[in-house]
Amino acid sequence: MAAVEILGDYAEEDDSWMDRAACKGLTQLFFPSAAERPQARERREAAARQVCRACGVQSDCQSFARTNHEYGLWGGESEDERHAAGFRLIAPIGVRARSAS
Ligand code: SF4
Repeated sequence: MAAVEILGDYAEEDDSWMDRAACKGLTQLFFPSAAERPQARERREAAARQVCRACGVQSDCQSFARTNHEYGLWGGESEDERHAAGFRLIAPIGVRARSAS
């Protein structure tokens, strides 16, 4: 799928569910910092998953991330988990590197 097609999908989606996201203001939990170590990633993602479990829009969020090939943790699902489930990332460099270890 071309990048422009993905952007087209993004523009047409209803993203009003984002107004009810439990993760507002917690961006640092859902996306890695530069050169994040694996242990730090595990801790960060565990904390993010706890927020997702209490969120009322988890299903919408997971579907959105899968459709739009998002990076980071969305709907309780990491980019590695989405990638493994067949929702491929556009440039899965980090995923390949982590899968090799
Ligand atoms: S499911 Fe998680 S990532 Fe998605 S909106 Fe809710 S808290 Fe945020």
